Amino acid sequence: MNSVTVRVPAKVNLQLAVGPLRDDGYHDLVNVFHAVSIFDEVTATAETGMSVRVEGESADQVPEDGDNLAIQAALALARHAGRSYGVNLIIRKAIPVAGGMAGGSADAAAALVACNELWGLGLPVEDLMEIAADLGSDVPFALLGGTAVGTGRGERLTPLEVGGRFHWVFALADGGLSTAKVYAECDRMREATGEEIAWPRAADPLLAALRRGDAKALGSELANDLQPAAVMLRRSLARTLETGREQGAVGTLVSGSGPTCAFLAESEAHAGELALSLKAAGVARDVITAYGPVPGPTVV
Ligand code: ATP
Repeated sequence: MNSVTVRVPAKVNLQLAVGPLRDDGYHDLVNVFHAVSIFDEVTATAETGMSVRVEGESADQVPEDGDNLAIQAALALARHAGRSYGVNLIIRKAIPVAGGMAGGSADAAAALVACNELWGLGLPVEDLMEIAADLGSDVPFALLGGTAVGTGRGERLTPLEVGGRFHWVFALADGGLSTAKVYAECDRMREATGEEIAWPRAADPLLAALRRGDAKALGSELANDLQPAAVMLRRSLARTLETGREQGAVGTLVSGSGPTCAFLAESEAHAGELALSLKAAGVARDVITAYGPVPGPTVV
């Protein structure tokens, strides 16, 4: 086999509960991840060295060297196999870069799946999961797809039952937000208010809404502890969220560490209407519709 292409989805966090800052600098999280139908594609082709090229709208914001998470994933896999394999990766990006939709983690997961196939390693998903957890806290979910609760730093995953398809609108912003800066701002704001930080746990009404496939109920349960910090760092997000609410979204939230905003609609047709209203209001660089949950990385 000379070349393998893998399609991999973005994610939105339906609930992101951030616990107190730990001594190791991380936070305990409860993360309800949901994979949505915005896809990057990663093509792995046999080559002697390791190289990566990025194509697509925001390609210029993604490193094409050892900092690229997909290359780091390929290297980690080769190391795990104890061989010096080579690969050329071509990443076609549709997932917004630094948009809080885990695009880099998605590419890393796609690279693991593609190289496992290309190099004929046949490693089971459990092995890939272990490598994924070392690469970053969002990579294990990127490998799993669907909808799942993540605990710890996000890497201990339990898949969730979902009783239907949810329709989303995503408002993309100009430029990204650094995940590290958003967490730091969250810590700063919490310290300033002296608020009691609850131990994070998944919200039962949210899990029940997912099981029932009930968009309205899910909409009112969406929650992101990073949202105040993301809005503080990017004030324009307050207006974007407010516009979605005014235009009838059944739920609104900042996706992960932002700045992408997610709006839940009641149906596919409602998502289409909501997207048009948000476009017309001029509150986003671009507006796209998607649905979830979708499966994780798929060889195409
Ligand atoms: P998360 O939701 O996991 O916090 P994000 O969606 O906000 O992540 P990414 O798109 O994953 O952010 O990118 C974060 C940074 O990682 C970018 O600034 C980018 O330069 C770098 N990066 C490295 N490899 C990749 C990749 N393959 N795709 C996108 N960004 C990458």
